[in-house]
Amino acid sequence: MTAKKIDGRAMAKEVREEVKVSVAKRIAAGKPKPGLATVLVGSDPASEVYVGMKKRMCENLGMNSFAHTLEADASQEEVEALVSKLNADPAVNGILVQLPLPDHLDEEKILQAVDITKDIDGFHPINIGRLAQKGRESLFVPCTPNGCLVMLDKSGVDLEGANAVVLGRSNIVGMPMALLLVKRNATVTICHSRTKNLPEICAEADILIAAVGRAEMVKKEWVKPGAVVIDVGTHRIDDDTKEKGYYLTGDVAFDEVSEVADAVSPSPGGVGPMTIAMLMRNTLRAAEIQQD
Ligand code: NAP
Repeated sequence: MTAKKIDGRAMAKEVREEVKVSVAKRIAAGKPKPGLATVLVGSDPASEVYVGMKKRMCENLGMNSFAHTLEADASQEEVEALVSKLNADPAVNGILVQLPLPDHLDEEKILQAVDITKDIDGFHPINIGRLAQKGRESLFVPCTPNGCLVMLDKSGVDLEGANAVVLGRSNIVGMPMALLLVKRNATVTICHSRTKNLPEICAEADILIAAVGRAEMVKKEWVKPGAVVIDVGTHRIDDDTKEKGYYLTGDVAFDEVSEVADAVSPSPGGVGPMTIAMLMRNTLRAAEIQQD
């Protein structure tokens, strides 16, 4: 068996096209351009790359972007003051605080300071709290897990009653992913670093979401024949034999897992592009919530 490839790149393109059309319609109707503000504290190279990608994507889709960078030693008060200013700015519909923040800052307080109607990352405690409650809906859902869900939906995977295993319980991926799957009536098991018999538990999954942050940890034996596997992991592995001196991979050993799974998302080319597309969709949604 050779698994179908869940093409996140192509799916993300579809989402971006939908967003672009909706943005153009809003502008044609005389509404302001949706605007995304990013807040970067310090000069972490990976974070700078992510912020740059988000800025370019906004421009491509006809949205405004406002990039704010503070010094690495910015105080809690400075960061919160910037967030307050952006909360009050009508040109800013969505606010993204680039994580991780430097250790001296209180991340929870800063995320809590973001106006809930501008919380396009979905990390405000009220949005996360609503995700965890039956019968309640968050205004925004975190982009990476929501992207995984859209990939499952676009692949025609039936979530109702399915056994889903989420490998990882972080605030930004694993936990909201598990909550989203429960909301969609899957039966969910959450695994983490203290889980016993990890391969056996993963091998029970109809749907396996790998967000563990360990390169190619999920092997063929961990996957039930016919399962659907979504690889959230992103790793850059140094390799002198490659032209660039490195290669990119995920949390899943893609080739061998493809021998048993029904469908697998690759990394790169899977969840990554979908995450940014979801961010753009949330920014548009923020503009709709605030202006319509
Ligand atoms: P994280 O905060 O480091 O969380 C990793 C999770 O995996 C934790 O819950 C941890 O358990 C668990 N874990 C670690 N080692 C384990 C092991 N040996 N056995 C079992 N569980 C283990 O990572 P994250 O932020 O969720 O990110 C996960 C991966 O996704 C990373 O590769 C990251 O780069 C990638 N990512 C990609 C995107 C994207 O857009 N494509 C976005 C975000 C993240 P404990 O809770 O017990 O520590």
